[in-house]
Amino acid sequence: MSLREQLCDYGRRAVELGLVIGTSGNLSVREGELVAVTPSGVALDRLTPEMCPVVDVEGHLVEGELQPSSETPMHLAVYQTTDAQAIVHTHSVFGTVVATTMTELPPVHYNALLLGGTVRVAAYATYGTPELAANVRAAMEGKRAALMANHGGVTIGATLEEAFESTRLLEWLCEVYVRGLSVGKPAILTDEQLNAVIERALNPPVFPRRL
Ligand SMILES: [Zn+2]
Repeated sequence: MSLREQLCDYGRRAVELGLVIGTSGNLSVREGELVAVTPSGVALDRLTPEMCPVVDVEGHLVEGELQPSSETPMHLAVYQTTDAQAIVHTHSVFGTVVATTMTELPPVHYNALLLGGTVRVAAYATYGTPELAANVRAAMEGKRAALMANHGGVTIGATLEEAFESTRLLEWLCEVYVRGLSVGKPAILTDEQLNAVIERALNPPVFPRRL
């Protein structure tokens, strides 16, 4: 599947799963110095491959009739400072709830380690601005995900599939935390507990074969 076809595929899934509504949210995937990105002003479930612009890592339009997503500067800033090959940005409900009320998403479940543990909330700035791009870049340091204050969430991956799955995980973690807060006081995993999870993942038990 071409990069632009992947954008259409995952764009449709993002709408189907309710991670975005209307023309909100944007995806990109990188190959070398080029980045295919969803266009501005088109709902993610109505994309065709030709609609998706291609830009270079400096932000010059290389291919396509439509303008790249307004959040393209944020995508490019993240590509500059991480090993990301794909980026997913949505306005998912629980992610946005956390980003509107908190400064970080604490690790309440060990799967948070897949995103780098605690997820930071990037300071608020107007959408599409270099300030927001810089804030997200800072919040993403050492992580696979960040939340954006009063805005939404962003995840990175080695593939678009990986970035998309991280967005689903981020939303699930936010939902667990927010629903947990409505029931009681969610316990936060300690560094010791998280380190034990890493240790366990690195050393899985091998079941001996019955002779
Ligand atoms: Zn946005």
